[in-house]
Amino acid sequence: MMTNNNFDTVIVGGGLVGLSLAAALGRDGFSVAVLEARPVISDWPEDRVDLRVYAITRESQRLFERVGAWPAMLAKAGPFRAMHVWDAGGDGAIHFSSADLGEPCLGYILESRVIEQALLGVLAELPTVQHFRPVTVMAFRQQEDGQQLELEDGRTLQAGLLVGADGKHSKVRDHAGIHARVSDYGQQALVAVVSTERPHEETAWQRFLPTGPLAFLPLIDGRCSIVWSASSERAEQLLQMDAADFRVELGEAFEFRLGQVTACGERALFPLQRQYAERYVAPRIALVGDASHVIHPLAGQGVNLGLKDVAGLAGVLVDARRRQRDIGSLPVLRRYERARKGDNMAMMLAMDGFKHLFGSSFAPLRRVRNLGLNLVDAAQPVKNRIMRSAMGL
Ligand SMILES: Cc1cc2nc3c(=O)[nH]c(=O)nc-3n(C[C@H](O)[C@H](O)[C@H](O)COP(=O)(O)OP(=O)(O)OC[C@H]3O[C@@H](n4cnc5c(N)ncnc54)[C@H](O)[C@@H]3O)c2cc1C
Repeated sequence: MMTNNNFDTVIVGGGLVGLSLAAALGRDGFSVAVLEARPVISDWPEDRVDLRVYAITRESQRLFERVGAWPAMLAKAGPFRAMHVWDAGGDGAIHFSSADLGEPCLGYILESRVIEQALLGVLAELPTVQHFRPVTVMAFRQQEDGQQLELEDGRTLQAGLLVGADGKHSKVRDHAGIHARVSDYGQQALVAVVSTERPHEETAWQRFLPTGPLAFLPLIDGRCSIVWSASSERAEQLLQMDAADFRVELGEAFEFRLGQVTACGERALFPLQRQYAERYVAPRIALVGDASHVIHPLAGQGVNLGLKDVAGLAGVLVDARRRQRDIGSLPVLRRYERARKGDNMAMMLAMDGFKHLFGSSFAPLRRVRNLGLNLVDAAQPVKNRIMRSAMGL
């Protein structure tokens, strides 16, 4: 039996991936400590939208249902029932609709803070989970039968398994001596919440511009969350632009598909990088989420991949415990790595492929990609397969 500072698993990083893993493992009776550096924001004004907005797949929804967090999110989750993608460099377009699959929707648009609050509510009810927040880890020590962490307030924690859910600058990854390959996309994503003249039709819209993709994601309150990826210079220029000029620029870039952009809130930039860890595991250490892979946001898959890591790792650990194996042992952890690395890498390469394909102004390539989009659009069975895979069905 564990004492207060001795856990089956210590998770460093209480972002959406770390909190979800804590909930999944806590539900399965593991003793878990989750450590997060940021304080909880408890006084968030109801009318303010979090600029971090995510498209959540049906598969991620199922994970949230399993851990008991979905009911608290549902009222604030905006379903999207269609997706429309088109190319600025030609007449290529593709339209996906959940009705074609007999499904109620393709996924949901949710604010990060709504997901976070729902997960925090779940953790508060789990007796085997302790949440340390705000807290900073001062030192990690590898021991023979576990990992030891020293916190800034002098406490030490022990764990049979240390999980790095601490994002792209992961300290746990450094401690494990795992190298991450990083390359800059040379782009930044501008995000904002906007109102449009016409309703968003519960559709996720994406236009591929030669300078990068522009997405309009339908929020439940009728507004749209935009993600506009562009060269760093262009993104800076868009950020600095006067509000009225920006609304016109945005409307034009979006071909006024929803009419004029009538209002735009605060704008923020996120630098875009591609990053992958060469290994996901080491003795008594596993990496999940952005700590192991960071991809381009053009298909809104980053957090969804992290949630697949959560389901994969939790499944492997439950199975190991049932077979009375040591959950921190390398053979057990390698099963997790084998299950997830290929899938994450395939998604990263696909995102890079899309970025290069749609970023090219080379005329023959432009013609082929437009033709490709229109051909796939006309081939319903192919489209259904793509849709099912993207939704995780
Ligand atoms: C513009 C943009 C749009 C995106 N849109 C989507 C989308 O629509 N759908 C989607 O699926 N994904 C999207 N993503 C990707 C998504 O944001 C990330 O994949 C996701 O946030 C990763 O979650 P995480 O929990 O792994 O890491 P993070 O969110 O980075 O969380 C890591 C946490 O660890 C904490 N931490 C770090 N170091 C320490 C330490 N030493 N001690 C304690 N705590 C620590 C940090 O404070 C942080 O809270 C988007 C990304 C961008 C940039």
